[in-house]
Amino acid sequence: MLALQAVDTLTPCPCGNHTGYTRCCGPLHDGGIAQTAEALMRSRYSAYVLKREDYLLATWHPSTRPASLKLTAQQPMPTWLGLNVKQHQQEGEHATVEFVARLRYGGGKAQRMHEISRFVREQGRWYYLDGRFPE
Ligand SMILES: [Zn+2]
Repeated sequence: MLALQAVDTLTPCPCGNHTGYTRCCGPLHDGGIAQTAEALMRSRYSAYVLKREDYLLATWHPSTRPASLKLTAQQPMPTWLGLNVKQHQQEGEHATVEFVARLRYGGGKAQRMHEISRFVREQGRWYYLDGRFPE
C-alpha cells in the first residue's frame, strides 16, 4: 500500500507518539492486539489519518458498526491535525477514552472534535462501541 509506505518513514506516528508509526500504530494496523483501549483508540485515529477503513471497521464492535465509512469519498476531505488523549479509564472489560482530535475540512478553519469513546474487550481484543460529545 502506497500510503502506508509513505508514512513508515514519518516520525512521530500519526497519533502523535514520538516512537513512530512502525513501533506504535503500525503493528496494530497489521493485525496486532492493542493492549489497552487507549492504544486501540490511538490506532483508530491513525487509521482515519491513513484512510484505513478496513481497520476502522474491523475494530468497531459488530453491534454498532456501520456498513461502510466511505472515507475516500468524503467531501470536503478532512485533514487531521492532531490528537490529544485526555483520559483513559478501564473497568474490567469496559473502558472509556476521552480525547480531542483537531481537523480541518478542505481549506476551512481548524476545529476540535471532543469525544468520550466507549470500548469493550471480547476474546482479548478491544472494540470501539460508540462515542458521545461532551460539548
Ligand atoms: Zn500511533
